[in-house]
Amino acid sequence: MSTKSGQHGLVLGGGFAGILAAHVLAARMDSVTVVERDGLPGRPEPRKGVPQARQSHLFMGAGARTADALVPGLLRAWTTAGAHRLSAPGDVAFLTKFGWLPRTPHDEFVLCCSRDLLDWVVRDLVLRNERITVLTETEAVGLTGDAQRITGARLRDRATGEHTSLEADFVVAATGRSSRVDDWLGALGLPKVPVEVIDAGTAYATRIFCPAPDRHRATPGIVMIANVTGEATGGVLLPLEDGLWTATLIGMRGSEPPVGDDAFLDFAKGLSHPVLAELVSEAAPQGSVRGFRGLVNRRPRFDRLPRHPEGLVVLGDAACTLNPSHAHGMTVAASAVAALHAHLEQYGITRGVAARIQRAVSRSAATAWQLSVSDDLRHPDVVGSGLSPAVRVQNHYADRVMRAATERPAVARALVDVMALAKPVTSLMRPRTLTAAFRGPRRRLASADAPLAPRTT
Ligand SMILES: Cc1cc2nc3c(=O)[nH]c(=O)nc-3n(C[C@H](O)[C@H](O)[C@H](O)COP(=O)(O)OP(=O)(O)OC[C@H]3O[C@@H](n4cnc5c(N)ncnc54)[C@H](O)[C@@H]3O)c2cc1C
Repeated sequence: MSTKSGQHGLVLGGGFAGILAAHVLAARMDSVTVVERDGLPGRPEPRKGVPQARQSHLFMGAGARTADALVPGLLRAWTTAGAHRLSAPGDVAFLTKFGWLPRTPHDEFVLCCSRDLLDWVVRDLVLRNERITVLTETEAVGLTGDAQRITGARLRDRATGEHTSLEADFVVAATGRSSRVDDWLGALGLPKVPVEVIDAGTAYATRIFCPAPDRHRATPGIVMIANVTGEATGGVLLPLEDGLWTATLIGMRGSEPPVGDDAFLDFAKGLSHPVLAELVSEAAPQGSVRGFRGLVNRRPRFDRLPRHPEGLVVLGDAACTLNPSHAHGMTVAASAVAALHAHLEQYGITRGVAARIQRAVSRSAATAWQLSVSDDLRHPDVVGSGLSPAVRVQNHYADRVMRAATERPAVARALVDVMALAKPVTSLMRPRTLTAAFRGPRRRLASADAPLAPRTT
């Protein structure tokens, strides 16, 4: 680690990506300021700036490992604080449109806990660093500099309404899905940022439940992958800390889940398997159903600006927002911060490094974008450009792999590795998977029973 005297880093947004980015900048700069619109609670608590935290979040092992490599001790801190580390698919029952995947033991894992806990643990570890200062209740309202170089940000104190600006040698914008960085760049004279949008109208409805303690211990995570055609619905039931469950109903355009408390169970009963409805009907609801709509795939292509300004990198949801039913957002955000780290280590804050990093951020989201978009494009009412012949072939092959995975543990593990972003999509072309995919299932139908029994191996 080398630091340069007097250098100041600025991070806009103190969410998951912003705090990780602050950690990376603080390793090479004398001081880092994080500007956050909200107050940041000193314990796991909800806040306005991350409204999605009320919805189920499943954190892929690949993302957790990436974050832990950036901030050593993070993985252990998450599990110590109460996050459940579940083998996938060993401790998670996945229902595909072809049936349940076998719950075969596997090293790959997912973390399950409230999003408030996930974020708080990161803050708790990272913000101990005395080089990092957080300006809470402060909103970034624009950037300073010009089209060639970003030199800081314009800020507004939310209590007083007072406007100031803060200069920096390097700025990371991590203002999440409501980000306005593309407008801010336009105001400095940069050309319009090209934006890609694929919108299958995905909506969530989530409710927290308190099951009997034995039931909580014995029940695996349940992920009923949303079908994209026909009844385009799915559902998730995941363990949280403190013996709670989070249950989410998912529906795409035309099949959106209702937000009313009474309608929640009815919608759950209509999913492709009754297990989620059966489990939650025996548990005590905690609070009301919370909905979330507008879950589009949106990617402003900052990496495609004809000339990227020096001194600015955009990452996290501000650079790529995904349909969350694939649970990839935080893993992509962690990979983007890892790219920031790797490039700053290699090149330092030198001319052209921001453009290089921005391209790497874009590459780090490419697989997740492809997985999400190729699936969403199958929906008949999707808004966005249509299915190309290449994507049709890819989807056809993905279906064959999925069908084979319902009865072949090795294929199930290979499929989960890709769904979890732990291995590249090309790993599904290995001979064993390829052969299984083309042979198809050995019997006509996989078991219709949910694999809820405790794992014995
Ligand atoms: C319904 C839903 C479910 C999801 N489920 C999953 C899942 O299961 N697994 C998964 O990996 N991902 C999931 N995601 C995605 C995940 O929530 C995001 O990828 C992740 O939060 C991105 O982190 P971020 O730091 O970029 O943004 P955020 O975590 O949203 O943080 C942005 C921060 O910027 C602050 N901010 C915004 N504007 C300003 C401003 N102008 N000035 C100062 N501060 C500002 C906000 O207050 C906030 O603190 C889900 C998303 C949604 C919507």
